[in-house]
Amino acid sequence: MSDKVRVRIAPSPSGNLHIGTARTALFNYLYAKKTGGTFVLRIEDTDAERTEQAYVDNIFDSLKALGLNWDEGPDVGGEYGPYTQSQRFDIYPKYAQILLDKGYAYECFCTNEELEHEKEEAVKNHKPYVYSRKCLDITPEQREQYIKEGRKPSIRFKVEHKELVFNDMVKGELKFDTSLIGDFVIMKSNGAPTYNFAVVIDDMLMKISHIIRGEDHISNTPKQILIYEALGAKVPEFGHLGMILAPDRSKLSKRHGATAVSDFVKEGYLTDALINFVALLGWAPSDSVEIKTVDEIAQDFRINEISSSNSIFEYDKLNWMNGQYIKKMDISKLTDMIIPFLEGYDLSELSREKLEKMVEITREPLTTLKEIKDAVPYFFGEHVPLDEVKELLNTELSKNVLNKFLTLAQGWDFSDEEKIHNDLADLRTEFKEKYGYKPKETMWAIRGAITGRTRGADMVGILTVIGKEKTILRTKEALSTIKV
Ligand code: GLU
Repeated sequence: MSDKVRVRIAPSPSGNLHIGTARTALFNYLYAKKTGGTFVLRIEDTDAERTEQAYVDNIFDSLKALGLNWDEGPDVGGEYGPYTQSQRFDIYPKYAQILLDKGYAYECFCTNEELEHEKEEAVKNHKPYVYSRKCLDITPEQREQYIKEGRKPSIRFKVEHKELVFNDMVKGELKFDTSLIGDFVIMKSNGAPTYNFAVVIDDMLMKISHIIRGEDHISNTPKQILIYEALGAKVPEFGHLGMILAPDRSKLSKRHGATAVSDFVKEGYLTDALINFVALLGWAPSDSVEIKTVDEIAQDFRINEISSSNSIFEYDKLNWMNGQYIKKMDISKLTDMIIPFLEGYDLSELSREKLEKMVEITREPLTTLKEIKDAVPYFFGEHVPLDEVKELLNTELSKNVLNKFLTLAQGWDFSDEEKIHNDLADLRTEFKEKYGYKPKETMWAIRGAITGRTRGADMVGILTVIGKEKTILRTKEALSTIKV
């Protein structure tokens, strides 16, 4: 195909950007990048009742945060705008009229009750429901009568019965028996287009060459192809992606965890990790290196290598990957991102330098930014609760170690990390030689007194962040609890 590749993502703003839509957006974006094509964002807000501006904003913000910037769209404009369906309502009736004039569509005056009745009959007879075509050949007199009664017609597309075959970029050859489709509504009686109609008109006018979307839309594709054909328009290439399922193989939903991109962000996932993770849902890198930037993925991306089967959303794997990103992220950037997760702590206690140091020495085991909150209480406040380490502290060993430690701390310059490090090493050696204390037991006593815990960040790092005053105070407090 010599035409330029033009792809699009067309979310409906009836909710925050779903992680599945983010993946669809990513694959379109990657295909555009790989082919030097154009990536379009279109907002499909024909369903006014379910549309909210907050969701539109969320879609914009989430796509941007993921780095999926569009070349044409509602905010940036482009040659084929407007890119919001509700601003295109004058366009659709024109094309509906063309289809009416050519005999590819007809007015339908059936009431909801009549249609419900047809559906009930089909269920009773164990048949799939297909519209009866009751209104296909109404006489002008009947039409007149309906209009007098105040009925407003919808417009139905007259489906040609045939075997429809197309070659899906992901799934290969697909065949449909269109006689099972039934004449579907393209314009509702209130004058609004239905999804299947608006999407074709927009994709056609926006010159979309490839439609990559979830396989939940596969049953819509034959209807859409029939409309292209009726309008004499070029049918785009279609590629349908397998679905993303929860670990229990059911549809991914809120009960499994976050599903909207913004909820993942609130949970402390990095957007770089998220986008990397969703790329691997249905696509695999040729060199098996999984941690990759979107640019690296784009270079390696081949649409025909996308798996046609469903992918499982493994939250554990996402956690692992997020942890990898947290470990290698620029410390200043990471600190900025972590600050909102430190709500409840008095951040004014620490200078920016010390805050960054705290983040640096606590980030290693984190899988989400949210986990920082439980990892850092001992960096703040004067005292630490000693309940967890009461028994550990109440020993001869701890008493000896902490007395010595107190003397050392009183003489330290707490910005001299090397000196603290060396003195602690000497202390361990001394106590090992003198009393046979294991080096880790020596450190447990110090850690217990300073943090109230038995595990945590690098001890020298902790001391330099909390400083002399708190170190001495906490050591004395710990010593005062020892009764041996
Ligand atoms: N508005 C549709 C959706 O959000 C777009 C479907 C399509 O890509 O054609 O599911």
